[in-house]
Amino acid sequence: MNKEYLYEKLADLAVRKGVNIQKDQPLVINANIRDAAFTKMCVRKAYEAGAKSVTVNWLDQELSRMNYEYQSVETLQDIPDWIHERGKTEHENGAAYLRIISDKPGAMKGVDPEKMNAYQQAYYRKNADLQAYTMNNIGQWCIFGVPSEEWAAVVFPDKDVREAYDCLEQAIFDVTRVHEDSDPVQEWKEHTESLEHHAEILNEYQFKALHFTSELGTNLTVELVKDHIWAGGGCTTPKGVYFLPNMPTEEIFCMPLKTGVNGIVYASKPLSYQGKVIEDFWFRFENGKVVEFDAKKEKEALQALVEFDEGSCYLGEVALVPYDSPISKSGILFFNTLYDENAACHLALGRPYPENIKGGTEMSEEELKEHGANASMEHEDFMFGTKEMSIDGIREDGTSVPVFRHGNFVF
Ligand code: ZN
Ligand code: ZN
Repeated sequence: MNKEYLYEKLADLAVRKGVNIQKDQPLVINANIRDAAFTKMCVRKAYEAGAKSVTVNWLDQELSRMNYEYQSVETLQDIPDWIHERGKTEHENGAAYLRIISDKPGAMKGVDPEKMNAYQQAYYRKNADLQAYTMNNIGQWCIFGVPSEEWAAVVFPDKDVREAYDCLEQAIFDVTRVHEDSDPVQEWKEHTESLEHHAEILNEYQFKALHFTSELGTNLTVELVKDHIWAGGGCTTPKGVYFLPNMPTEEIFCMPLKTGVNGIVYASKPLSYQGKVIEDFWFRFENGKVVEFDAKKEKEALQALVEFDEGSCYLGEVALVPYDSPISKSGILFFNTLYDENAACHLALGRPYPENIKGGTEMSEEELKEHGANASMEHEDFMFGTKEMSIDGIREDGTSVPVFRHGNFVF
């Protein structure tokens, strides 16, 4: 098999379908230096597609780690003005952003979390006015993954380095629908249309609640906020440019009513949280709140999540992913949310997405709360979808409509 050819296809997909770079538009790529070869392919593809300029910011996890280890908290918090200036100029020029990831899971393990928080909060504060550009989809942005040996070693710990890399590489080609004889740009067009079709149907229904049952014992009712919006697939900028913020993406997602979750949910996959892997766990909800939980492994980590802040024991997201989606079929735990959250139906404890309620992106946090939304600093997805998952949509009058049978959409 000609690997070079597959990587060309992958780069093409990232640039043309992911960010959908426009003629005379600047592109900014943030990439790990280990991914230089793939990044350069993306640069060339972007120029060929008519990009005005392509700027690459090289990142390196080991350098980041050394900064945390050796710099004082004061130095870490001192974000230079030019960082903000740079972002501002990029936005004024209408830039698009491509983030290429291949990170080693747990690379920051053992780094003082206070230092990391101090830097991240300072960075966020310094650039607070710049967040809306990507958060509200003013310019296109895309997060895209490529394999690395460091990452593969964590995903396939029992294999030798070369073999592990080959397995992760194949998995990434598969889940991004890149094969020798496939047309991934066309396949992604059809796939996102199917996601948007499902979202539209559910938006029409405006169900009061969804009722989930599974062979693991899940029996959970999740009420949705009024005027909710099921989102998924791609986004469109105010200039009308369609792009895919996450590649791959398999989910459609919505906003639960903070106080409207009742019953028990059994996780169907392990959860990687703060460098720990939590296994075989469940939550019991009453009026939205986690009132009981247990895990066969790393229960303390689960407790840390539930007790993280006031809102981390309530849900912020409910997402539907068919059991026969490619990531689900791969059966691989990637230890990276970009992939893992697309493997099965999931729920997230913590912060909701404002786009999931009508007018939500213009609402203050207070207004969102008044509409029944949760609020939290945390947003942690966990998978509970299974092969035999059933979902029923409950209407206002109490009647129900089948949504999922045997792990997949009925429509
Ligand atoms: Zn999600
Ligand atoms: Zn999520």
